[in-house]
Amino acid sequence: MADSTASTSDTVRPNLARRGLMFILSSPSGAGKTTISRMLLDADEEIRLSVSVTTRPPRPGEIDGTHYYFVDDAEFDRMVEEDDFYEWAHVFGHRYGTPKGRIRSALKEGQDFLFDIDWQGTQQLYQKDRQDVVSVFILPPSLAELRRRLESRAQDSADVIDARMDRARGEISHWAEYEYVVVNDDVDACFEKVRAILEAERMERTRQTGLIPFVRELMA
Ligand code: 5GP
Repeated sequence: MADSTASTSDTVRPNLARRGLMFILSSPSGAGKTTISRMLLDADEEIRLSVSVTTRPPRPGEIDGTHYYFVDDAEFDRMVEEDDFYEWAHVFGHRYGTPKGRIRSALKEGQDFLFDIDWQGTQQLYQKDRQDVVSVFILPPSLAELRRRLESRAQDSADVIDARMDRARGEISHWAEYEYVVVNDDVDACFEKVRAILEAERMERTRQTGLIPFVRELMA
């Protein structure tokens, strides 16, 4: 009887070592970025959320340490002084920042990170680490649809929604600073596109540090 196990294992492609990615998703608030982020984190075990620090108060249902680390102004000041941030910015009257943590060493070990940050943070990450950054901008299908989505969340007052619509225009004006742009008119289709970008970028040749030894052995 043929040994099917042996023939299967002979053809299994090894998991090649690679550097991790800093995968940035940006969009105006309400364009679906949070939903897409959640879908990606649920579907893909190799990517982890970089949890930001913010001075904004928690919204209903948000958990400290999961959605954000919620801190007061004094704590944020202290973190800025101690150079604890990769990047930070003022957004909607509050401050948001990416804590350094052990991102850099984890990237070397092949861990991917998802960043839900705005255009200011994206520019700062590009300045610090162009090689590892992949940026995706998610556009809403229309501004009317964006407003409808913001209103249906019922988490913010009318004034805050108006302010967010103004900011949305400003945020959208930065679309051309991103490598990839995806229109979210259907959340499942948008998710599949974002996932395809992540998969393709993982295979980018210079990121696959295991290729040289692998090919050397292949050709030996
Ligand atoms: P929200 O208050 O709706 O959670 O987020 C407001 C905006 O702040 C979003 O566009 C979000 O991407 C951005 N943001 C969240 N965390 C960070 C961060 O660490 N750095 C920067 N630059 N922007 C952030």
